[in-house]
Amino acid sequence: MTPQPDALELEDLVMHFGPVRAVDGVSLTIPRGRVTALVGESGSGKSTVGRCVVRLVEPTAGVVRIAGTDVTHLSRRQLRPHRSAVSIVFQDPAASLDPRMLVGEVVAEPLRLSGRRIPRRDREARVATELERVGLRAEVARRYPHELSGGQRQRVSIARALISEPRLLIADEPTSALDVSVQASVLNLLADLQRDIGFACLFITHDLSAVEYLADDIAVMYLGQLVEKGSRERIFARPAHPYTQALLSAAPVADPVRQRQRQPVLLGDDLPSALDPPSGCRFRTRCPLAFDRCASEVPAQVGIGDGMAACHLVQPDGSGPDVRAAQTSEVLS
Ligand code: SF4
Repeated sequence: MTPQPDALELEDLVMHFGPVRAVDGVSLTIPRGRVTALVGESGSGKSTVGRCVVRLVEPTAGVVRIAGTDVTHLSRRQLRPHRSAVSIVFQDPAASLDPRMLVGEVVAEPLRLSGRRIPRRDREARVATELERVGLRAEVARRYPHELSGGQRQRVSIARALISEPRLLIADEPTSALDVSVQASVLNLLADLQRDIGFACLFITHDLSAVEYLADDIAVMYLGQLVEKGSRERIFARPAHPYTQALLSAAPVADPVRQRQRQPVLLGDDLPSALDPPSGCRFRTRCPLAFDRCASEVPAQVGIGDGMAACHLVQPDGSGPDVRAAQTSEVLS
């Protein structure tokens, strides 16, 4: 039996907007049915990766393979048969849903764009099923997006993304524009749908606490490059890269006792500009453990199990740097 292709493969993906090196050599594989969270601060290039996958922007270099097909250089027309294989949910449903279209038309649009002729009655039935699957009543199809709440609108976006039965869903900060009170319910919905339907997902987020709900694997991005990859269990238990350790130390945790014991690592300065990234390790201007070599030599990716971390101090067993200990000794000295 031939092995099933991975849902998504990125090989050395590069996206430069003129002199801005937004994405600079990202390689990532998402097996079928698995969820990878792509985590990083705003400006790290993570949303640009998602946009390259759905070809909203044309990558400068590298390969994008969806379900085994290289889609990097396909024309719009050649792309059409593959379009239903991948869908995207954007951050802000108010901006991504056409306000002049009824919700039913919005949700059915991917079917229309696929070019397949589907009788109206069947189309309406599929829309109703999809709306109910995301927790909305079928009658919502006859309303306009602005008549709904933010959370309901994001449910409409999810119904629209799933109606073409994609193998891969790109969820780009799907809850960050929503009220805090509805964020958890939309995340839970995505997690339930993913388990039921089994699509693979690239979940783009700056919120590490959201990752705990959904992700099987985590990829951490800093200034256009991946600095660490690994299973969620390993990364939460033993983050290897100083940047991942700092992000995790600052992420809120549900347990109030653990929350009080947290010692967030303060990274100081903002993310440097992608116009002129630091030499050597790009994280060195904010890394509490930086030393001479970090400015002159780009750190190699050290394999840790199925994942990796790119830091001069990381050992193949994942041991090495500990920014929390470094910060504590600095405070004590
Ligand atoms: Fe810090 Fe150097 Fe490791 Fe980069 S390579 S993360 S600057 S210790």
